[in-house]
Amino acid sequence: METKKPNHCISCSVKNCAHHAQSENYCSLEKVVIGTHEKNPTVVQCVDCESFVLGSASCCGETR
Ligand code: SF4
Repeated sequence: METKKPNHCISCSVKNCAHHAQSENYCSLEKVVIGTHEKNPTVVQCVDCESFVLGSASCCGETR
């Protein structure tokens, strides 16, 4: 697997993302875009990392 350099300014636990550093819980991108899918975000679940790209595994326990 390709080794990605962790960006210690962006902590992230989403290992399914293709941009995750894997060796540590950080993103490997220089910057990320954070957004929302809600008109009026009120809780953490309303907020998304819009830089997410599906990596080698699928979400929610599914495997490809
Ligand atoms: S792009 Fe977003 S979801 Fe993916 S590793 Fe970086 S911070 Fe995490």
